[in-house]
Amino acid sequence: MVVELVETLLEGIRSGSRAQMARAITLVESTAPRHREAARELLTRLAETPNSAATNPKSAMRVGISGVPGVGKSTFIEALGSQLTAAGHKVGVLAVDPSSVRTGGSVLGDKTRMNQLAADPNAFIRPSPSAGTLGGVARATTQSMAVLEAAGYDVVLVETVGVGQSEVTVAGMVDTFLFLTLARTGDQLQGIKKGILELADVIAVNKADGDREMEARGAARELAGALRLVRGHGEWAPPVVTCSGLTGDRVDEVWDQVQLHRDHLGVEGLARKRAEQQLEFTWALVRDELAQRLRHSKAVRAVQDDVRAAVLAGDLTAPLAADRLLAAYDTE
Ligand code: GDP
Repeated sequence: MVVELVETLLEGIRSGSRAQMARAITLVESTAPRHREAARELLTRLAETPNSAATNPKSAMRVGISGVPGVGKSTFIEALGSQLTAAGHKVGVLAVDPSSVRTGGSVLGDKTRMNQLAADPNAFIRPSPSAGTLGGVARATTQSMAVLEAAGYDVVLVETVGVGQSEVTVAGMVDTFLFLTLARTGDQLQGIKKGILELADVIAVNKADGDREMEARGAARELAGALRLVRGHGEWAPPVVTCSGLTGDRVDEVWDQVQLHRDHLGVEGLARKRAEQQLEFTWALVRDELAQRLRHSKAVRAVQDDVRAAVLAGDLTAPLAADRLLAAYDTE
């Protein structure tokens, strides 16, 4: 059963069948134990394919794209994706949506937001998996990336939202992290700086069109100056450019900067970065699995109501409560 399914999927993926790709991604996203075996087998086999991106840094470009809701991410991705497919690339779009983790709802990756790209035969858009923890979503996204890459997608864009854990997660799975922002000055600038500094490889001040263009250029200059002060000599200082996802103006220049960042890493640097990401991903998988086991532990369930009541009543301190839960878990 598993062998047949995996063979069918592999054949479909390699021949670029969208239906089989979608099926494969559904499989790797699944948290059901009965799907895990097939997913593992599929991913192992994909890793053996000659163009496997896990081992070949010359393969797909993995680019994270982030920014607050409303900054214009989906409009930008639509413009960028269309320019890239017109230039002969195959573009995959994946999403890591923290709101889907908490609420099951989604602010990202909604297909209908990218109509043109969704209808493009050389683009494949996948909304954020809505199940489970951020770690689980990250696992699903990383594995979906492997499916896309095996199917010959040479650019994978991973969209995420906000400044927070989801961005750190996405930065840990891409080669280049692109941050979209809006023209802002002074205090607001201070507010976004820290998060940007640590993660962004390229920054684009978006919506630089019409009346906003001058303001955007000013903001870009200010931000570039601030970044230069903080980054050390010889370090990659994230370039700050302006663009308009709506008109498509200078979106190609943003992409040029992404390419430059990749060149700066070099083949070896990229290979090292990906290897380190694999190691970090390994531990993320372990943490995720442990969290899952903890949640499903019968022994923990057996004591957790008592522990909860005792903590709420002030009869048990948090460290002692934690000890009791862990002791219960260890008996399993
Ligand atoms: P997201 O939430 O970051 O994905 O943002 P959207 O792409 O959905 O865009 C939010 C709003 O901003 C929409 O009304 C867009 O039409 C508008 N918008 C997006 N990009 C631009 C742009 O480059 N220029 C202008 N003027 N408006 C834009």
